[in-house]
Amino acid sequence: MPGVILDGTKIASEIRAEVAADVKSLASAGLRPGLAVVLVGHNPASEIYVRGKVKSSEEVGLYSERHTPAETASTDELLALVEDLNRRDEIDGILVQLPLPPQVDAKKVLMAVDPAKDVDGFHPMNVGFLSTQRPGLVPCTPGGVMEILRRSNIPVAGQEAVVVGRSDIVGKPMAMLLLNANATVTVCHSKTHDLPGVCRRADILVAAIGRAGMVTRDFVKPRATVIDVGMNKITDRAEFERFFAGNEKREQAFAKNGSTLVGDVHPEVAEIAGAITPVPGGVGPLTIAMLMANTVRAAKLRRAAAVPVG
Ligand code: NAP
Repeated sequence: MPGVILDGTKIASEIRAEVAADVKSLASAGLRPGLAVVLVGHNPASEIYVRGKVKSSEEVGLYSERHTPAETASTDELLALVEDLNRRDEIDGILVQLPLPPQVDAKKVLMAVDPAKDVDGFHPMNVGFLSTQRPGLVPCTPGGVMEILRRSNIPVAGQEAVVVGRSDIVGKPMAMLLLNANATVTVCHSKTHDLPGVCRRADILVAAIGRAGMVTRDFVKPRATVIDVGMNKITDRAEFERFFAGNEKREQAFAKNGSTLVGDVHPEVAEIAGAITPVPGGVGPLTIAMLMANTVRAAKLRRAAAVPVG
């Protein structure tokens, strides 16, 4: 029996509606949370992401502004911009869109963001807050995965969770969030021995690898919950056939666009998983929704004495 499809688009729109209601009630208290997005140069993918973030901010009623330094911007110029945003009280969230051009010291720029405004949750101070279970800002994508689990009534406490991937952005914070929610957590990576065997232990399997369809049926315990964070664009016909042969809807989209998105989990896994996130329409939509939620949270945390933090 095929598993339940965890509808990330629906969950993300629930979160956005909650954020919009929150923004409205803050407005009546005279507060409008503000998000500043910094986009350096003209990376086409980054431009699309930033457009989505600004549009979504407007939809939920946040104040937002976009800063677009030139591709040639220096580390010092970006540090000056971040310092200015740190100082401005009407800005609650600062997001520096990655990747930054090669001449820029990206770590230095990210470190300069005031941790109280670090809506990406990447600053070591927020990493520390997460690992010591103090109030802070949590990275959007793993935070979104926890929302999918919670809102789908999937139990986490006491469950075996396996996270494949140990990046600072997804894998590590994901593992920490699951641990904080009392799962028994294993983190796998490219040096893990017998990856399929370790993954088969999982009641909750999270794939954040960046390899199209790598997690196949033999990685998955029947009825496990499978969360697919991967977003891989495929353009090759043979690869397309490997994943989507016989899928008419995908076939039409592939013929029209010359590409399609596939996760890190092979679509065949839906046949044995108990619940699974699709790609697209699973984890992806949560990332922007959680950015909106984080901006409101940052606004509340910065004014914790005046506004209760939910
Ligand atoms: P990343 O920084 O490249 O990290 C990939 C991780 O996967 C690394 O820890 C790596 O291990 C591990 N890995 C690579 N090949 C492996 C293998 N053959 N076996 C076991 N582990 C392997 O990637 P990321 O930024 O975490 O992103 C992961 C995926 O999530 C990508 O597809 C990305 O596009 C997607 N993503 C989606 C969203 C969203 O909004 N849905 C957001 C962020 C990322 P080592 O550490 O040993 O190298």
